[in-house]
Amino acid sequence: MSAQLIKGTEIRNVILDELKKEVQDMKAKHGVVPGLVTILVGQNPASISYVTLKIQTAEGLGFHEIQDNQPENISENDLLALIDKYNKDPKIHGILVQLPLPKHISEKKVLNAIDPDKDVDGFHPVNVGRLMIGGDEVRYPPCTPAGIQELIVRSGTETKGAEVVVVGRSNIVGKPIAIMMAQKGKGANSTVTIVHTGTKDLASHCKRADILIVAAGVPGLVKPEWIKPGSTVIDVGVNRIGVNEKGKAILRGDVDFDAAKEIAGKITPVPGGVGPMTITMLMKNTVKSAWLHIKGNV
Ligand code: NAD
Repeated sequence: MSAQLIKGTEIRNVILDELKKEVQDMKAKHGVVPGLVTILVGQNPASISYVTLKIQTAEGLGFHEIQDNQPENISENDLLALIDKYNKDPKIHGILVQLPLPKHISEKKVLNAIDPDKDVDGFHPVNVGRLMIGGDEVRYPPCTPAGIQELIVRSGTETKGAEVVVVGRSNIVGKPIAIMMAQKGKGANSTVTIVHTGTKDLASHCKRADILIVAAGVPGLVKPEWIKPGSTVIDVGVNRIGVNEKGKAILRGDVDFDAAKEIAGKITPVPGGVGPMTITMLMKNTVKSAWLHIKGNV
């Protein structure tokens, strides 16, 4: 039997509707709208399209949105000064610096210069630490892992006591989602295993996963026979395997989808699964930041 598809595009629309109402409520009650600045350095085409999508989504929700484009040759000091300006701007609740940055600028220095209370991407070491502590300490969970957790919860997958196997240990996906699923609380409380390039027998771990989260960046890495029947499979991988006749990239996940969907209970497609969730969670973090600023909690 074919698995239930976990449609990120549909879940995204539901969450965006919820956020839109929250923004209207915030404006009516407090005269405040969430403020997001997206800083783009240079003209990298992929970065331009990501930033454009973020801006369009923010505008659709009624945010105060600033697109701050800077030339490729901006100095590191000038970029740091710009971040400082937005750190101090009370109308701005979220600061996003689109990566990658040109080679003459230290990404680490720039990301660490963002006020952790406006770090809606959740990459600042302070927010990584808060995520590790868990509970009320968590302020801005990183967007892709937060999106994965929403997909798991909203698809009705039981997480309490579930065996979760995470393939990949990157700082932006694998490690944070593993920590989030192991924490106490709703949508978590799972028993988590992280597997990676140093793992001896990948298949044996994947086979016992009630929830398999794959973020390796290797097309078709997870074979159908590694999937536990009835499990929930979240495929984070986005791999360009070629271009179609219209010149558009053909995307594949890290899981052999066509075969896996006949074994899993629930599965995310690529594209249209995890992908649409990342920007949505960026918006959610920005709304949260605005509330925290209104309540004086930051
Ligand atoms: P990364 O390259 O930083 O990390 C990949 C991880 O997978 C590493 O920890 C590595 O140890 C592990 N890995 C790689 N090959 C493996 C193998 N053969 N066996 C076991 N483990 C292996 O990548 P990332 O940034 O975490 O991204 C992973 C994938 O998710 C990519 O395809 C990326 O495009 C995609 N991604 C999607 C979104 C989104 O949809 N919004 C966001 C972030 C990343």
